Amino acid sequence: MSEDSKEAQRHEMVRRQVQRRGVEDESVLEALRTVPREAFVPESYRGRAYGDSPLPIGEGQTISQPYIVALMADLADLEPDDRVLEIGAGSGYGAAVLGQIAGQVFSVERIPELVERARETIDSLGYDNVEIVEGDGTLGLQEESPFDAIIVTASGPEIPETYRRQLAIGGSIVMPTGARDGGQRLVVCTRTGEEEWKTRDEGFVRFVPLIGEEGWSEGRETGASRPGADEPGF
Ligand code: SAH
Repeated sequence: MSEDSKEAQRHEMVRRQVQRRGVEDESVLEALRTVPREAFVPESYRGRAYGDSPLPIGEGQTISQPYIVALMADLADLEPDDRVLEIGAGSGYGAAVLGQIAGQVFSVERIPELVERARETIDSLGYDNVEIVEGDGTLGLQEESPFDAIIVTASGPEIPETYRRQLAIGGSIVMPTGARDGGQRLVVCTRTGEEEWKTRDEGFVRFVPLIGEEGWSEGRETGASRPGADEPGF
């Protein structure tokens, strides 16, 4: 497929899947029109790269649905100079999109195979303001804090205190919280003062679980294997 037709597909994806659902921020829309999502999915799924769904990326994980990536970036209210922390790099797609909008992105991933692949993809595209870090993202990334936004792409029982502390005043955390296997609520938590945070609910979502010290423990069945659920989550 030619570059032109892929670009046309991205424009169509943005119109149909993202703008139609109400995301209007031009920097977010432009980022989704620019980043080649097909580079982040396994070869066998490339034909579906611009479809309206999450796709498997191996290791039981998924690349998020394009709309969800756009929604989370929109809710984070990013500025061009912002420093952003993403938890759950997965394929690296979300990090690449955030890197088009913000100044610097750090994205933590716990599964070494995914870290390696995400780094390769990000490097091959020349996105040099995006760094993939291997580790347990439930602890945040103290050495690079404070962050203007923390975007969590896996669901935890609640927002870890560590994230609240690693946020700059005025910055926001965007994170799915709630039950491990079913649906969750997408929550936006803004640090309004040294010791003050305001939280709002942005609706129902379904993500793979955040596994780590301040998240869920490893080893239980996830939503991926529930009868009738053929996708592990967004
Ligand atoms: N943003 C990704 C979607 C990733 S799915 C993309 O655009 O492709 C969620 C990811 O979170 C999975 O890759 C999973 O391995 C990772 N994850 C789960 N718990 C984690 C933790 N404690 N620290 C870092 N990554 C974690």
